[in-house]
Amino acid sequence: MAMKLTVLYRGPLSSCNFGCEYCPFGKWKQDDAELAEDRAGVERFVGWVESRPYPVSVFFTPWGEGLIRPWYQEALVRLTNLPHVERAAIQTNLSCTLEWVERCQPEKLGIWATFHPEWMKRRRFVAQCERLSALGVRYSAGMVGFRRFAEEAEALRRELPSDVYLWINAVKDGKEERYTPEDVERFSRVDPLFPLNNTHHPSLGKACRTGESVISVDGAGSARRCHFVREFLGNIYEPGFEQALRPRPCAKATCGCHIGYVHLDYLEMDRVFGSGILERVPVEPLWQAQRSASRISHS
Ligand code: SF4
Ligand code: SF4
Repeated sequence: MAMKLTVLYRGPLSSCNFGCEYCPFGKWKQDDAELAEDRAGVERFVGWVESRPYPVSVFFTPWGEGLIRPWYQEALVRLTNLPHVERAAIQTNLSCTLEWVERCQPEKLGIWATFHPEWMKRRRFVAQCERLSALGVRYSAGMVGFRRFAEEAEALRRELPSDVYLWINAVKDGKEERYTPEDVERFSRVDPLFPLNNTHHPSLGKACRTGESVISVDGAGSARRCHFVREFLGNIYEPGFEQALRPRPCAKATCGCHIGYVHLDYLEMDRVFGSGILERVPVEPLWQAQRSASRISHS
């Protein structure tokens, strides 16, 4: 098969303008030298993507908030305007300005927008989403599934455009949040795919596209198969690094994050998300997505 690569990029950025108590990067500040290092990493990476002779998709998954930094905005503008880039997506709290989006090729941009109700007013988040809709950008909106957010999630569902998928990320630490069947039902009414996310998917020995057509890359260019396996595959800035890419089964017992399990072959998540797999936008109307989810959770 002709080569194609999806890169999940996570550089040294680890600061954020929000202060979510459940996040280690909340209100964390980085000095100018640290930010300059992050910027240089992003710019070098975009230059590398520019020079690839094969189709590439990019997903920025920073620890902190990237889109309040102009170099992430510029990276998305540059990437979406490259003919061989199929998609350039980013996870964000959506607190940024959106003027830069007008310079992107909107059909190639993907936004994974997380609403943090303790740090942003719902009406401002919805207004930002409506702006993305008006600009023709494909995006998903979502929230962390703390039980104390359930009412807010229901309100957000009512206020978002009906064709926008709202996901709820299950809190699966087993300590802080223990869902009752009623909690699961309640979140599943907001997000029909909630049961799929509320699962530690068995992955040991299973075929997973990471390490072959999907990789995770850090600010220095070190490539790993995914964000959850530390094994070093090579450095993308070394000529011919692509030779290290090949099929490899997963060595971890389970995979519980959307950005990981969607690449497990047996889950067939490309049938649910299609080309919206990175920014988490299902291809099908949600009632069909729900049917796919129940087929998967019962298989
Ligand atoms: S918005 Fe995201 S990165 Fe920022 S503090 Fe909250 S969870 Fe962390
Ligand atoms: S299944 Fe998950 S943990 Fe295993 S290799 Fe794939 S993405 Fe990584």
